Amino acid sequence: MDKITSFTINHLELLPGVYVSRKDKVSDTVITTFDIRMTRPNFEPVMNTAEVHTIEHLAATFLRNHSLWKERVLYFGPMGCRTGFYLLLSGDYESRDIVPLMQELFAFIRDYRDEVPGACARDCGNYLDMNLPMANWLADRFLREVLDVIDDSRLIYPE
Ligand SMILES: [Zn+2]
Repeated sequence: MDKITSFTINHLELLPGVYVSRKDKVSDTVITTFDIRMTRPNFEPVMNTAEVHTIEHLAATFLRNHSLWKERVLYFGPMGCRTGFYLLLSGDYESRDIVPLMQELFAFIRDYRDEVPGACARDCGNYLDMNLPMANWLADRFLREVLDVIDDSRLIYPE
């Protein structure tokens, strides 16, 4: 089998950031897949599943309610390696286009102190596996260290 595109990225050079992972065309519509990379691969501890799960619930809820973007949001979910998330949007975008949206999203997660949406047995397959304080902490760090000081080294995949 062929190596898929996301395995051709040099993870040894990849820094936390916001990247375009791929673009796919489905009939006449371009679907942009973003790599929302929150920890540096193979360099620092990955996120634990509980905080990944909490970020997933909060981000999916936030994005699907966003007045400007909700119609274009197709998917938000974690990478199996637990270093980040994939966001799929309908439309042809560059990574810089969604920096303001990511700043809004991660400020929402940083400041969120309420019950996690969908964190109950009826709505989720593993609702007790949540860690809101760590989700708050990771969102704060991603804002301070990446989103609020972002440049091309965090927006374009390394060669
Ligand atoms: Zn869940």
